[in-house]
Amino acid sequence: MASLRKNALARLKNEEFDLLIIGGGATGSGIALDAQLRGLKVALVEKADFCSGTSSRSTKLVHGGVRYLEQAVLHLDRSQFKLVREALSERKILSEIAPHLVTWLPLLIPMYRRLQASYYHAGLRMYDWLAGKHLVHRSRLVSREEALELCPNLKKAGLKGGVIYYDGQFDDSRMALSILLTASEKGAALANYTEVLGFLKSNGKISGVELKDKLTGEVWLTRAQAVVNATGPFTDTIRFLDNPEATPLLKVSSGAHLVLPPPKQSMQVGVLIPKTKDKRVLFVLPWLNHILVGTTDVAARLSDNPKPTQEEIAFIRQEFETYFENSLQENDIYATWAGLRPLVNEPSEKGTASLSRDHAFDESPSGLLSIFGGKWTTYRLMAADTVDRIITRFPRSFNPCTTHKTSLRGAENSSQIIREALRNRGLDETTSEHLFRTFGNLALEVLEQGSVEKIHPKHPILISELLYGIRKEFISQSSDFIFRRTRLGFLDKKAAVESYPIVSSLIKNELGWTQEDLEKDRLDFFSQL
Ligand code: FAD
Repeated sequence: MASLRKNALARLKNEEFDLLIIGGGATGSGIALDAQLRGLKVALVEKADFCSGTSSRSTKLVHGGVRYLEQAVLHLDRSQFKLVREALSERKILSEIAPHLVTWLPLLIPMYRRLQASYYHAGLRMYDWLAGKHLVHRSRLVSREEALELCPNLKKAGLKGGVIYYDGQFDDSRMALSILLTASEKGAALANYTEVLGFLKSNGKISGVELKDKLTGEVWLTRAQAVVNATGPFTDTIRFLDNPEATPLLKVSSGAHLVLPPPKQSMQVGVLIPKTKDKRVLFVLPWLNHILVGTTDVAARLSDNPKPTQEEIAFIRQEFETYFENSLQENDIYATWAGLRPLVNEPSEKGTASLSRDHAFDESPSGLLSIFGGKWTTYRLMAADTVDRIITRFPRSFNPCTTHKTSLRGAENSSQIIREALRNRGLDETTSEHLFRTFGNLALEVLEQGSVEKIHPKHPILISELLYGIRKEFISQSSDFIFRRTRLGFLDKKAAVESYPIVSSLIKNELGWTQEDLEKDRLDFFSQL
């Protein structure tokens, strides 16, 4: 068993904690780091791999949300304005605490009617204005020629020009992992593949949880003075474990994405299609050298491994083909995936597209604090809000929140020095950049783990990354590496399947798996494709 997980499990079996967090997505990870930095003794458990839920399935934007701004203006909704402003300032903070993971991306809104240009330009100037001192790049109008230079495959007929604005883009599962590894370095006990089965109560108040190691089947009790439910779409499931009579609070909606191969002509910008047939927006984004297209927003059922429906895929293809010259063939679609939005249920709303993206709390009579809703971009604020509530339960005093100035693991050194050092190791530009963007200043340590041979000839992912991940990043299953430590399974399903034999055999050797372990791993991997 990988040592980080082994140590955490030993602590979960033998120690008592101030705070135990259920769920290792964006929300739970953020809370673990904030709480540990403030001085609480923290544990976090995740029933599958860290960030295997919604948080690895986002559109990868660190953004205020231009669509939410439009909603705020149209409905004169002050709370939506506040949400956009907060997210815009978070965008800047996240680019500072994890500059290797969060980068700035120019986004083009193409215009096919002249009047649209002034409407969107005015809106985006407001977006810039709301960012205030956190603004990094200003939006601007571009001509038809410039629009086509930046994005050569845009539908040419009728194109008048466009507006460029900027948002952040990130690797969501690497971000969650970096937050968790930072929390772990500061002393938090974190375990993936550890499920909460129920609650331990004294005098009607929660005093711990019943846990199950999903890899061995072992069950035990862990005591904690406070428990936070940060299980995203599963929030109500956990609330029902505490109180079977609880009223459901959540509505779940699905968002699907397609991934297309690396573009033949360079795409220097992302594209925002401002009004799809279902009156939403669609993003077409360069991501890890591929093209990511999404997303949808349709009411869905809760599931551990949601998959896009045929209708969602057809819808995205159709919208893409309306705005781009390419007509997509079956083999142009390298991967598809879906995530479930944990939305605050407002019974008066008919669809899910207009439900609030703000977060909300519920505190049960037994003391279970549930946090749900929100967005990836605001995870840090959601965490601060949660920890502010939790510390009032303790009679001692705590440090103030410092997550806005705490660099995440891998972020502390000059990027230039690391990039140069990587080039000096004789790595090509694509591989150096991949290593830097994945590990930041830890990239050199990764190289020390073993071979610089690639896992798959089409992708710059190295064997040493896998060995590093097993030793230092909580890898226990092949899917952890293929889907979340690297993004191969999200980018290119064929390459993911072709890589599986080498990945699983290296993990088998490193962790001393039996044939039965290998068989379980194979089933787990193929269920996630
Ligand atoms: P999750 O990531 O789902 O984490 C909850 C975890 O709890 C899961 O890993 C689950 O396994 C675990 N769990 C459940 N039950 C148990 C149990 N019994 N024991 C232990 N663990 C348990 N936001 C942005 O800011 N930018 C975007 O571009 C963006 N795009 C999005 C696109 C889509 C399609 C979707 C669906 C959402 C998007 N969001 C975006 C929103 C954002 O992704 C979510 O708000 C966020 O990831 C939710 O994180 P979470 O930690 O609350 O939930």
